Amino acid sequence: MIDRRKFLLSSLAASLGVTLPYNVKSSVAPGSLSAAPGSPVIISTWDHGIPANEAAYQSLLSGGSILDAVEAGVRISEADPDIGSVGYGGLPDADGNVTLDACIMDPSGDAGSVACIKEIMHPISVARKVMEKTPHVMLVGEGAQKFAEKEGFPRENLLTPRAKKAWEKEKALKNNLSPVGHDTIGLVGMDKSGDIAGACTTSGLGFKMPGRVGDSPIIGAGLYVDNEVGGAAATGWGELVMKTLGSFLVVELMRNGAGPEEACREALERIRRKVPLDSEHQVGYIALNKSGNTAGYCLREGFEYALHSNGKNHLIKAPSLL
Ligand code: ASP
Repeated sequence: MIDRRKFLLSSLAASLGVTLPYNVKSSVAPGSLSAAPGSPVIISTWDHGIPANEAAYQSLLSGGSILDAVEAGVRISEADPDIGSVGYGGLPDADGNVTLDACIMDPSGDAGSVACIKEIMHPISVARKVMEKTPHVMLVGEGAQKFAEKEGFPRENLLTPRAKKAWEKEKALKNNLSPVGHDTIGLVGMDKSGDIAGACTTSGLGFKMPGRVGDSPIIGAGLYVDNEVGGAAATGWGELVMKTLGSFLVVELMRNGAGPEEACREALERIRRKVPLDSEHQVGYIALNKSGNTAGYCLREGFEYALHSNGKNHLIKAPSLL
């Protein structure tokens, strides 16, 4: 039987002309998966994680650091006009502006982030510059945009004709637009020497309130990496992830002995116990630990993640809590 939420989202996606990830064939995850010792492991959210993982892997093969790799991976999604939830082609806010959020963490525990930035196609690379070139962790809005321009990032129109049409269609239907979607890319990677980094980038919920920022650029919410323990990333309804500091929680649970699957599941249990849920709410977590074990888990059926490990890059259907 088709689940109602999946059906509603599929219909919405079809009417908006954007792709949602759950039609792609995948295998069911049996639990936390392990990689051969000493080989790179890359895990990322949704089906657009497949090309992102590949780019991250190629970056490692050509001598890049794990930080270079995670950045290179998610830049693929940011530049893809067919992904309605990240970078170029992302659905706009209720006023028709595409605003982007991103963050990055390196193995030393350093972090950079940008939020509500406009007209810059690669917010992940701006987040990296914030980390490397400023004494700060996060820049937002106009300040982030000015910094990006100073660093040589071109200003570009990110609203594709398809995303504009989707927004106009929604506007014609209702005055107060409701936010939709949940396909952020979060990517966590480990190189062959065991160093871990992560990146997360999104256009946030489509048709969101102007000025709204979700979990994705918040260190500890959308992404967290601790090189002694592992890394985690989130996708879905950002407010739920922010209220429980989800990615940090997953990493802390792993620090205290949980495997990646148990940690993701427990972080979702925390949401279920602490945050009032409505039928539209979805959250998916991915996690990778220091031994190269990986897992994904979600609140409701429909979340898939991409895993590049032992030389194979494949999609896995995450188990769900509800
Ligand atoms: N987590 C993102 C946000 O709330 C949405 C998503 O995953 O697409 O902005």
